[in-house]
Amino acid sequence: MEEKLRFYNDEGCYIKCYLCPHNCSLNEGKFGVCKLRTVKNNIPIVINYGEVTSANMDPIEKKPLYHFKPGRDILSVGTFGCNMSCSFCQNHEISQNKPSSEFIDIDKLINLIINIPNNVGIAFTYNEPFMWYEYVYDVAKKIKEYDKSISVVLVTNGFVNKEPLEEILPYVDAMNIDLKGFTKKYYNEICGATMEPVLETIKIASKYTHVEITTLMVSDANDSVEEIVGIAKLLSAIDKNIPLHLSRYFPQYKMKNQPTLVENIMKAKEEAKKYLNYVYVGNVAGVDNNTYCQNCGYNLVTRDIYTTNVHIKGDKCPNCKEYINIIS
Ligand code: SF4
Repeated sequence: MEEKLRFYNDEGCYIKCYLCPHNCSLNEGKFGVCKLRTVKNNIPIVINYGEVTSANMDPIEKKPLYHFKPGRDILSVGTFGCNMSCSFCQNHEISQNKPSSEFIDIDKLINLIINIPNNVGIAFTYNEPFMWYEYVYDVAKKIKEYDKSISVVLVTNGFVNKEPLEEILPYVDAMNIDLKGFTKKYYNEICGATMEPVLETIKIASKYTHVEITTLMVSDANDSVEEIVGIAKLLSAIDKNIPLHLSRYFPQYKMKNQPTLVENIMKAKEEAKKYLNYVYVGNVAGVDNNTYCQNCGYNLVTRDIYTTNVHIKGDKCPNCKEYINIIS
């Protein structure tokens, strides 16, 4: 469904969209980088409002979020479109194309969210939620007006401008933000974006909501220990309790590099742990992804793929009462 744009300026001879840092100039029939926003009959519009391509109940660990409602399931939905063009995108069918979709109005979606047993809320994921901003904002605001305890989660690349980010954050409980690498070159050449706005998003979002970070370590592209240590140091300067997920890459879409060596990932984890309290490894079987108390070593959450056993209530270690960055 089409909906009027948020975050644009009418510059007379063109419309400037400033939802994300591409800051595209839009004209009648001419779309922005995301291929979602254009001008039709002199009205700036977005074409994916309420259009859902995927909806599933997922373990929240799959987002991945390890420190937010561990062991719970969340209704996860996505649409189509993205403002990045990562060569390794595992969801390129929906991020770079326009597949068939089903319109779900807000009341119907909220009904779904509240009527699924044991559902903790709604996660906007699979493609880039900020490219679905108009709908995501409307759903998030309405659901919080209905019941503040229903969780709203964004799984995002973080490439968004400050004003729209700050406007939606009061309605968001948790975010997993991709920090795809730690060089401008990687962001420019592999992802079709720039790095600084993503760093800014991480800093701003961390002040308002629960944040975890994911970095996909791509062999011979961004998998040097130095790069991961750079990320760990940056996050540590914001808050050393931010969980970092180092995920193993496998060949996808246009990227043909070999799968990342597990030993590289484990070495990077070991080094990142010198700066951060919680570093996890994704897409590798048999690794210890439990959460331990940093003070006494007590096992707070046991994870085996997507089976999770939680041994903590609230945010204090049951053994030594140390504060733990977990929202249970
Ligand atoms: S959302 Fe971003 S990519 Fe899409 S039109 Fe607006 S500025 Fe361009």
